[in-house]
Amino acid sequence: MENLTAERRHHRAERAGTIGAELSARDIIAVAVTWVDTSGITRVKAVPVQRFPHAAAWGVGAAPVFDAFLLDDSILTEHFAGGPTGDLRLYPDLDRVTVLAALPGWAWAPADRYTQSGTAHPRDSRLLLRRLVDEFGVDGWTLRTAIEFEWNVSRPDPGDPDRFRPATTAPAYGMARLGELSGYLRDVVSLLRDSGVAVEQIHPEYEQGQFELSVAASDPVRTADTAVLVREVIRAAGTAHGLRSVFGPMAAADVVGNGGHIHLSLWREGVNQMSGGSGPFGITTAGQGFAAGVLEHLPALLALGCPSVASYLRLRPSAWAGAYRCWGLENREAALRYISGSVGEHEHAGNIEVKAFDSAANPYLALAGLLAAGRAGIHGEAVLPEPVAGDPDRLAPETRAARGIDPLPGSLADAVAAFESDAVLGAALGAELVDTIAAVRRGEIALFADATPEQITAASRWRY
Ligand code: GLU
Ligand code: MG
Repeated sequence: MENLTAERRHHRAERAGTIGAELSARDIIAVAVTWVDTSGITRVKAVPVQRFPHAAAWGVGAAPVFDAFLLDDSILTEHFAGGPTGDLRLYPDLDRVTVLAALPGWAWAPADRYTQSGTAHPRDSRLLLRRLVDEFGVDGWTLRTAIEFEWNVSRPDPGDPDRFRPATTAPAYGMARLGELSGYLRDVVSLLRDSGVAVEQIHPEYEQGQFELSVAASDPVRTADTAVLVREVIRAAGTAHGLRSVFGPMAAADVVGNGGHIHLSLWREGVNQMSGGSGPFGITTAGQGFAAGVLEHLPALLALGCPSVASYLRLRPSAWAGAYRCWGLENREAALRYISGSVGEHEHAGNIEVKAFDSAANPYLALAGLLAAGRAGIHGEAVLPEPVAGDPDRLAPETRAARGIDPLPGSLADAVAAFESDAVLGAALGAELVDTIAAVRRGEIALFADATPEQITAASRWRY
């Protein structure tokens, strides 16, 4: 969205009036306007439908202090983003107004955050992603992306509602588990359909009470918006069934975690660059550059894609989380998994999947980082190393070292150090945002300095 001129405000107010009338006709009372903070938590301000045109023209007030919120709602007061003064305006995206079938009477729209003078807020992750997508488009590139959702369903123990108590007992991937929660899962699918989300698949995952849902690929901004929407729909469906949803990376200290795997394919003039080329498995030169750029910057990218202390309890070898910096064909232990699709559908199905990222990530920041890294890889004509087959953790350490298969950062502190020294991400995100992200990550590290894994998971599982 460009700077807000008087003409543009007028146009937005008119459009919002039309949308508001349609919403009222569908018994919508208010619109929830959301943004995702630096920690990865979706925050909201809501307006009655009658006020929607004003909100579209002049925004909804929200303090800049949210940039300095930690996952437990404490605030980094010493940081420039954390002071009590100032105001930002949330501008609902009028192209994304969605009736929230799961929350009767409510609609939703993701917001872009602007200053009171009508310029883009330099720490707004959605505007950042939009800008990077637009710049990428100027070069003729299109990115199609999708995030996979994994979550655990808990049946609250009345005596201890914050304990994670898996709502299922049936086997991993078991049809019996689908049967155990068939009514809830049916509602998840139908409510998402009624909220305009193109669900492609839903299934029980490995861990008790864990499920996974995948949605159709789209442009990156829409993908991130969808990540916000899907979570709220699943959460609401659970509430209606007396269930609670864990979107944190770990439901408990000793379980298989929740990934937030991101699929990406690079396109040019309608042609998927992840197949049909002369590189490994048919990846084109540009597709390879993109993938190699992501692989190269992955340690730094973890500060965006694995943003919490709990993320590093999940990111372990041999748990399908992709704890090693390597890539491979359909390899679920590689941080970057190349997916070719079946013979006959390669040209539209070929994509890379960032396995390492988890469900705590701010999806706008995660996608922005991947785009910046991949773009640098295209421009630098980066080349992928040899693909890895099998679990890299089973290789002898000397073999891993010789092949350049490094473990990814094992802590948030190591990821932040890599992030702060990454010039490509620094240039794409801007110094102010890099500084804010690093400060928030350090704030969380300090918060959990003396915490056990059990305390970390207890404090984070319900937050996202
Ligand atoms: N739950 C695993 C994770 O933490 C991923 C399982 C899968 O391969 O889908 O990423
Ligand atoms: Mg999965």
